[in-house]
Amino acid sequence: MRYEDFYRQSIEQPEQFWAEQARLIHWERPPERILEQAPPFRRWFVGGTTNLCYNAVDRHLAERGEQTALVAISTETGITRELSYRELYREVNAFAAVLGSLGVGRGDRVVIYLPNIAEAVFAMLACARIGAIHSVVFGGFAAHNLALRIDDAEPKLLICADAGMRGGKVIPYKPLVDAALAESRSPPPHVLIVDRGLDPQMTRIAGRDVDYAERRAAHLDAEVPVTWLESNEPSYLLYTSGTTGKPKGIQRDVGGYAVAMAMSIRRVFDIAPGQVMFTTSDVGWAVGHSYNVYGPLIGGATGLLYEGLPTHPDPGIWWRLCERYGVRTMFSSPTAIRVLKKQDPSWLKKYDLSALKWLFLAGEPLDEPTAHWITDGLGVPVIDNYWQTETGWPAISLMPGLDLKPVKFGSPGLPTPGYKLKVIDEATGRESAPGEKGVLVFELPLPPGCLTTVWRDDARYVNSYFSHFKEQVYSSLDWAIRDADGYVTILGRTDDVINVAGHRLGTREIEESVSTHPAVAEAAVVGIKDEIKGQVPVVFATLKQDVAEPPEAVAKAMQQRVVEQLGALARPARIYVVNALPKTRSGKLLRRSLQALCQAADPGDLSTLDDPGALEEVKRALQRGP
Ligand code: ATP
Ligand code: MG
Repeated sequence: MRYEDFYRQSIEQPEQFWAEQARLIHWERPPERILEQAPPFRRWFVGGTTNLCYNAVDRHLAERGEQTALVAISTETGITRELSYRELYREVNAFAAVLGSLGVGRGDRVVIYLPNIAEAVFAMLACARIGAIHSVVFGGFAAHNLALRIDDAEPKLLICADAGMRGGKVIPYKPLVDAALAESRSPPPHVLIVDRGLDPQMTRIAGRDVDYAERRAAHLDAEVPVTWLESNEPSYLLYTSGTTGKPKGIQRDVGGYAVAMAMSIRRVFDIAPGQVMFTTSDVGWAVGHSYNVYGPLIGGATGLLYEGLPTHPDPGIWWRLCERYGVRTMFSSPTAIRVLKKQDPSWLKKYDLSALKWLFLAGEPLDEPTAHWITDGLGVPVIDNYWQTETGWPAISLMPGLDLKPVKFGSPGLPTPGYKLKVIDEATGRESAPGEKGVLVFELPLPPGCLTTVWRDDARYVNSYFSHFKEQVYSSLDWAIRDADGYVTILGRTDDVINVAGHRLGTREIEESVSTHPAVAEAAVVGIKDEIKGQVPVVFATLKQDVAEPPEAVAKAMQQRVVEQLGALARPARIYVVNALPKTRSGKLLRRSLQALCQAADPGDLSTLDDPGALEEVKRALQRGP
């Protein structure tokens, strides 16, 4: 099928289109109405009942019970687990019985604070099975961040591990949980601990803490009936990355999300039942929820889950796994590829990647030099795709599961079904002409799978996303440009736009230009106050390993490139070469903190910062001078 026809139908006849897609999943009771709107709210598949766990597991038992459903690989512990759909069914039922034994039922929240291990998948699916609402908090978030999310979700249960591991180092989780619960206003009565035996010092609180292995043994052969939920009941909560400030508790539904997963795994990611997908995300992120857990399993595929670094035990590990498991579609992030880019490119050539058809990348702008580097290195098409925690699945992407339109480097391509995309002028609210910059928005209704509200805060939902323009549209808060063929390029966040003497520049444009220098691994650009021009760009860059040129020479050359490519207006006022850039734990550049440090202001909420060392490094660089 042609992309154009598929997309056009989704826009012109949304109800017919989504009614058709809804047949991809099992409905216990079919929907009575496909769409009901009360803008900016909407309900998809009203009156239909279904269940995410049933669609992800039970439904496949007859046809593919013995097929591998999940491969959980840890290069940290050296343990790999492979589970067939039947084995997954058994684990999920046991887990659901354990939840029941702890008093968890329909509508109760369960906070999951686990590393990227199979039990995280079991726990999510077990919640879905019984209609409990999971809220996965990225493992390793500090106690305070965990406490904030606990207070917001008010869970009946918290599930954690004794510890995670990163780069060979054990990171105890349980002390963080204890501290978070001590701080929390609404601590759950029980903590269920998946004891991996990594932290022999772990302590337990009698009466509160429960051992998962013990409970599992008691419920191993349990069969827990599926709780059928109305399509619009909440399935899970997930907080955004917090790049621009306080994270938002995104609420997802059941039926719309299941349909969006079934459609996108097939049509966007080109994965048919029985095929293998490797998503390198952590389950704690939106990508992990949708394409480590629900998408591949609802699609009857085999999914790989990975705990570890892309460079450990060596930078060939991911490609070795692709070879070993015959991965067809891989899904990672530009940040991860930029980490690999610092390594010897010959690692990309060592393995048989004949099964690998596509490398999808999302989460951050994919700069052209990195896109070329990885495309040439692997010899596989690289598909940039744009989405947000809010959308739950790609809103802009090419769709090789239909027909692959030409890849344009630097652009995630075209809108996916149901996304009525517009680029509009911030001041006038009018649609920008092709080639002109503006804010990326989506007209209503949002397609199935998108957020339904912010948890217990409808007002924040309305204010955060729908109150920016006269016309009621969903604002992505990203700054973009659309070309004459309809391809979109994301220029950065609206918060980060740099205004030099009245000319507005996306951070992306300058970062892209700086990154064309062959010595540069990664760059972040921020605008800082300037008395004459209003703002001027300042660049922070990391270099590839074994660059012979002195950093000052590279900096000078970077500056020249920007002036040549974008004009004197974009000339960086200062360029700092550093060893690391501050990022969120989901791998996004924290430009707001860089900007604050440059202006000697408070760097703001740093709770989602990954490596505090990177900020220290920036502070030192600022003291040293460019
Ligand atoms: P918060 O909303 O709390 O500030 P966040 O926006 O970083 O955090 P996410 O939902 O994880 O949280 O990230 C979505 C954002 O990531 C998008 O709005 C966009 O800025 C960026 N992004 C994602 N994919 C792409 C892409 N392919 N190209 C460019 N930017 C992307
Ligand atoms: Mg956001």
